[in-house]
Amino acid sequence: MDPRYDKSLYLPTTREEMDRLGWDRADIILFSGDAYVDHPSFGAAVIGRVLQAHGYRVAIVPQPNWRDDLRDFRKLGVPRLFFGVSPGAMDSMVNHYTANRRLRHDDAYTAGGRHGARPDYPSVVYSRILKELYPDVPVIGGGIECSLRRVSHYDYWSDSLRPSILAEAPMDMLIYGMGERTVVELARRLDAGENIKDITDVAQTAFLTDSAPDPQSGDIVLASYEDCRRDKSLQARNFRDVEIESNRMHGRRMWQATGGRYVCINPMLPQMTPEEIDASFDLPYTRYPHPRYKGKTIPAYDMIRHSVNMHRGCFGGCAFCTISAHQGKFIASRSKDSILREVRQVTQMDDFKGYISDLGGPSANMYGMKGRDTERCARCVRPSCLHPKPCPNLDNDHSRLLEIYKAVDAMPEVKKAFVGSGVRYDLAMAPSGNPRTDAVNREYLRQLIARHVSGRLKVAPEHTSDEVLDVMRKPSFELFHRFKQLFDKVNQREGLRQQLIPYFISSHPGCREEDMAELAAITKNLDFHLEQVQDFTPTPMTVSTEIYYTGIHPYTGKPVYTARDEREKLAQRQYFFWYKPEARRDIVNSLRRLHRPDLLKALYPGGVPALAEPSRSYNPNFRHADAPRHRRTDADGNADPRGRDKGEGKGAARPTGKRNDRKSKP
Ligand code: SF4
Repeated sequence: MDPRYDKSLYLPTTREEMDRLGWDRADIILFSGDAYVDHPSFGAAVIGRVLQAHGYRVAIVPQPNWRDDLRDFRKLGVPRLFFGVSPGAMDSMVNHYTANRRLRHDDAYTAGGRHGARPDYPSVVYSRILKELYPDVPVIGGGIECSLRRVSHYDYWSDSLRPSILAEAPMDMLIYGMGERTVVELARRLDAGENIKDITDVAQTAFLTDSAPDPQSGDIVLASYEDCRRDKSLQARNFRDVEIESNRMHGRRMWQATGGRYVCINPMLPQMTPEEIDASFDLPYTRYPHPRYKGKTIPAYDMIRHSVNMHRGCFGGCAFCTISAHQGKFIASRSKDSILREVRQVTQMDDFKGYISDLGGPSANMYGMKGRDTERCARCVRPSCLHPKPCPNLDNDHSRLLEIYKAVDAMPEVKKAFVGSGVRYDLAMAPSGNPRTDAVNREYLRQLIARHVSGRLKVAPEHTSDEVLDVMRKPSFELFHRFKQLFDKVNQREGLRQQLIPYFISSHPGCREEDMAELAAITKNLDFHLEQVQDFTPTPMTVSTEIYYTGIHPYTGKPVYTARDEREKLAQRQYFFWYKPEARRDIVNSLRRLHRPDLLKALYPGGVPALAEPSRSYNPNFRHADAPRHRRTDADGNADPRGRDKGEGKGAARPTGKRNDRKSKP
């Protein structure tokens, strides 16, 4: 039978499916905030398949209804070992709300893209329900929400400092980071009869305890949650310690007092070996959504169904990014054979038309990279191997990646293999000290541009101001200029008309309105009409978020200016759209206020033409006063730049919290 319709090929999601497998009960039941897509990019499928490969019976309850009589939490009965809860692939608050805290109207991880299939903070909501129903069964949390909320953290959506999620969700333990090895270890120990309360030594777990840390142990004792609430500088210092320790090859255990108890965080495991990561990717995924969705579109799946992820981890250390806090700084790379096996699987899919949409990873071109001297890496405390300057110990040789591109290109079923993930051009352009490697890296960039771009190459300079870029831990904009020259040259030589699409962020800590005005002038001069732009969203556990909350840089202790007010943020954002007539009036007024006639001339060299009526979106004074807190947004989650948000007024969405009778109030 076609794997899209054969339920027996999937982990069971109903009592009936369990019965057909002849199970009286499952060993482990996973509750997930995402739809169940049996694909290695979806966390619940990965954890389920890994446990299954170790002989456990695993069932999944995707997107349980938390607002009715809770039948979804009862329907599969009680597992023999434990319940697992996860919010899904994204932090639920990023999934639900825009950077301006407006409610999104869709959810890419739900069948039909429908909004409302998960609560805010699902890990908290699911674990509270499970503990109410089954107080004696262990509940173990995992996924991005647990990873990024494992210690006290700033929560942008409630605008408050929250304690570790363990203090708010009654789970027995959480697993942070990529959880395959940890979850198997926990299952094995629970299966051997150990009590979850006695398991305190498993790497990449955290739990609440009444025991205090041993002062002789060498463990790190962070400032308490309560002290951090009183003194923001302590929160900033905590963050620095947590980031350093989490990015070390062999980190130390950490403790944080919270509410009269201690959160104990065991260190992260070293990155997976190629054999370990291959074993996870080579499991018998069908690569399709479960038949229960009857072929409905799941937008996030549609994006990745013809793509292949080649590695995990990122050593870029961008200040606003959470990847290293979740996946680690060190790169775990799959073997070439495992990658090619998956590419072959993709080519056999019914709807494959010859195009691999992405040969990528968290950063497309970090595959196979590590330090030349691993002993040095083992002692290293740098959160980034690229900032402030590329580390001389980093082996940035792109030949392994080129080999894979070539092998995929040689497959007769593949017409083109694109690179859709973000490329760190600075990594490929960084002089390695070895002429052969430098030549390979130049060839990599040429191959990338000539053969692996689907018409538009997305790159992320993020800003044009070097001061802002320094806060972001990104390289100088000068490198983007050089990369663009190369891009244009290769396109010209190959007779291609491809576009370079740069990503930029406004309102990032360190960025002032004038920096955005300069960004507009500089990108205009480069002939860009920007599309891929974003307001900074302070997600938990990033340097940028800590600066946003504390007002100081965690590493220097120095104050950093940050736009916090919606008016300031809109004033910054408007510069992205200098070319739109409806934005012009506000920009002109702002530049006059900033006394920057030079920028006014740069943006509108022919003089200021007749000004269009200001739009609500562009006029911070107008918008700010009466805007409701949650409003609908466009498909990208941004306020409609042409004017009113869609869905306002009659029939507009209410804030999720008002609809969710079980919404968590951490
Ligand atoms: S020594 Fe260099 S290459 Fe190794 S982890 Fe540190 S910064 Fe990265």
